[in-house]
Amino acid sequence: MSRLVRHLEDIVGEENVTDDEEVLWTYARDQQWPFVPPMRPDYVVRPKSREEVQAVMRLAYRERIPVIPYSAGINVRGLCIPTQGGIMLDMRKMNRILEINTEMMACVIEPGVTIAQLASECMKHGVRPAVPGCPATASAVANYSLRGLYHHQWKDGIENVLSMEVVLPNGEVLYTGSWGFPNSPGPYSRYGQGPDLTGLFQNQPGTMGVITKMCAKLFPYCDIKDWVVAGYDDLNELVRVILEFGKYEIGTSCMGMHWLGFAMIFSGRAEDVMEFKGTWGEYVVWLAIEGTEETKGRMEWEREMAENIVRNSNYVAGGEIFPMPEDLVNEMTYPRDVASWFRLGSYYAVPFFAQMKLAPVYHEETKKLWLKHGLDYDTCGWFIAPFDYCKHGQSCYYEVETWFDPTNEEERQKLINFTDEYHQKIIEMGAYAYFRPNPGNMSAALPLMGNYAKLWKAIKDLIDPHDIMNPGKVFV
Ligand SMILES: Cc1cc2nc3c(=O)[nH]c(=O)nc-3n(C[C@H](O)[C@H](O)[C@H](O)COP(=O)(O)OP(=O)(O)OC[C@H]3O[C@@H](n4cnc5c(N)ncnc54)[C@H](O)[C@@H]3O)c2cc1C
Repeated sequence: MSRLVRHLEDIVGEENVTDDEEVLWTYARDQQWPFVPPMRPDYVVRPKSREEVQAVMRLAYRERIPVIPYSAGINVRGLCIPTQGGIMLDMRKMNRILEINTEMMACVIEPGVTIAQLASECMKHGVRPAVPGCPATASAVANYSLRGLYHHQWKDGIENVLSMEVVLPNGEVLYTGSWGFPNSPGPYSRYGQGPDLTGLFQNQPGTMGVITKMCAKLFPYCDIKDWVVAGYDDLNELVRVILEFGKYEIGTSCMGMHWLGFAMIFSGRAEDVMEFKGTWGEYVVWLAIEGTEETKGRMEWEREMAENIVRNSNYVAGGEIFPMPEDLVNEMTYPRDVASWFRLGSYYAVPFFAQMKLAPVYHEETKKLWLKHGLDYDTCGWFIAPFDYCKHGQSCYYEVETWFDPTNEEERQKLINFTDEYHQKIIEMGAYAYFRPNPGNMSAALPLMGNYAKLWKAIKDLIDPHDIMNPGKVFV
């Protein structure tokens, strides 16, 4: 047995450390394996407390061993795949919900808490957490720290973190926000003195420290839901309609989609997906309106406003605002039936953030590049999701996506070539950020970001001078 394994066993107990090859290989790849080369860690370690995480980090810091924080491992971007081996720090044993505070509308959770666990506990208290459209087994801490796409994104935004307890690479502990003040009555405020240190540890895939606790926002539970769905041939018109919804703050969530993504969700069999082509036009928008018995009046007003906006637009879909298909209702209702998302094969996407009104320009450029690489336009999905803080379209989530056969080498290679060129193209098109980029994909953007990237790197070097935190994921 290696000296290191013995040290790790002293910290977390014999049953929580392994260097067994068979176990290590189970951590070596995820759904992105056609694009992110599989690699196994050298050890898997399962801490049970913050103190154990600190001791592991002190050891890794001293010995210069890479550490990959892993809270659920289903991030679909290769973000937990080692680039240099090291310790896979599997946080699933730290899975306590420490507080559900309906007065402060906040919860305190550990990283092993799943979205399902949190949502069901919250329901008992008449509240709900932010619910991403992902498998119920995702970690709330990992998801919120990366920021995501939520079923109520329009009203409540994508920012769900208030404050955090973080173990730094050298093993020291940092509290952010109001948690950082010794006599503060709780961790419920994001903003303490000085800069926003919570933000410093977000949107960085395990590269700055290990989050051991998080205080996250909660929202009122809504038990009444209504939808407005309409189809468009003209992407400009679809964007205009979404911006109108935003201007009047109508609905809790809204998404514009290419017909393919829409069909993917609710056609029962893969063979049926293509049948839907042209049924509602090229693009579909859906708006979810949610509330409770007490807010029914507001919901009715929202519905009427939304219908008016659609009726005054150039919509298609048989001249009707069509009813929300039942499977799409399920898609928007927790838990999501994610299996439908894989009907046409393995899922591939390049998501990014950019201005909403330019969607038609981005779409044209994307299409040109897609075709240039010999890819089939009929299998190119595209969706745009506006966010709370961008009601006016300042920032919007875009995703170009497809479903493919990963064993088809020719198809895989075409997607790799497209992706390489597209990462550069996204910047030329004026994007602000990639969304959870695959390891190495940031390299197209960093040299163009000037002092922004230099300062970011300097902060990273200060906090993690030996680059032991999930190396190769942002700075290569
Ligand atoms: C079919 C499908 C659909 C999805 N749809 C959506 C969607 O609509 N919206 C959405 O938001 N998400 C969606 N996702 C899920 C999303 O990919 C994950 O929730 C998210 O990336 C986090 O993944 P995870 O919980 O598995 O965390 P992990 O895979 O364990 O970790 C993700 C990253 O965070 C780091 N990390 C993990 N834990 C810690 C920690 N304690 N401290 C520091 N760093 C840490 C890891 O090192 C890694 O880099 C979807 C996923 C699938 C499979």
